[in-house]
Amino acid sequence: MKFDLEIFSPVDAWQHPLFAQKGLNVFIKRDDMIHPLISGNKWRKLKYTLQKAHSLGKTHLVTFGGAFSNHLLATASAAAKFGFKCTAFVRGEDVQNDTLFLCRMHGMKLIFTNRDSYRNKTQLFEEHFGDDDAACFIDEGGASAEGVQGCAELISELPLIYQHIFCACGTGTTAAGIITGLHEHQLPTHFHAVPVLKNGGFMRNEINRFLDFEADYSIHTDYHFGGYAKTTPDLINFSQSFTSSTGILIEPVYTAKMLYALLDLAAKDAFEQGSNILAIHSGGLLGLLGMKEKF
Ligand SMILES: *Cc1c(COP(=O)(O)O)cnc(C)c1O
Repeated sequence: MKFDLEIFSPVDAWQHPLFAQKGLNVFIKRDDMIHPLISGNKWRKLKYTLQKAHSLGKTHLVTFGGAFSNHLLATASAAAKFGFKCTAFVRGEDVQNDTLFLCRMHGMKLIFTNRDSYRNKTQLFEEHFGDDDAACFIDEGGASAEGVQGCAELISELPLIYQHIFCACGTGTTAAGIITGLHEHQLPTHFHAVPVLKNGGFMRNEINRFLDFEADYSIHTDYHFGGYAKTTPDLINFSQSFTSSTGILIEPVYTAKMLYALLDLAAKDAFEQGSNILAIHSGGLLGLLGMKEKF
């Protein structure tokens, strides 16, 4: 069994009158196109995680996430595709939604866990699967060194040198991977992290714990729109207008916040004229189904 997907993630142009006016060339790396459910950065984070699990003789993936987690769905779908059993601890009370329905559809067993027990993930794992040699612990969001390694590969796919690369951050694993890839390829690119949570300054520690070198990058903490999975009418309007003017679907939990930040920073002259700027579309589109009533 080969634990790999053929990567299809083209780079599209993002045309916008503001970019034309400021002399900027802006592009979107379409990691959302890698797979409909094993979406974008979640596949990149799972790739080496699954290879490691397999090499250790593990056949049962055990992971963690909220009820709308893109990581749970990606893990369920990847487990089905590559022949693993899988279980997820789901934070909070027993609920039904589209994401969890699709997780079940792919054979994932769901264990709803109250917020207190959920906090100690290693303890939960030990309690339920401590005796199961086949069980493999995968952290929430796929955060791991293997995840970083997978995300670093994105850099070798790029057709151009970019002066700036942007990505949305939850756990910071994807950001750490991109920074690692830029470092490995010795590229002059400046990296911009956009945390989607409130008080995102802590993201620097989250990212740096995965790096074994000094990295210079920016974190833009003012684009959380109220916090994780929070939105404002302004963000919803932006998402809709982005999609209707580009044909590229985005969702407001991650990618819309990052693209909004990029546009806002361009308006504030944060980039030199003539810059090539790349935004990573990290996927997560199924999450939109849980947000219909906001639009
Ligand atoms: C999970 C997710 C992220 C966050 O990635 P991290 O590696 O946890 O920072 C970003 N974008 C989308 C669409 C996601 O689903």
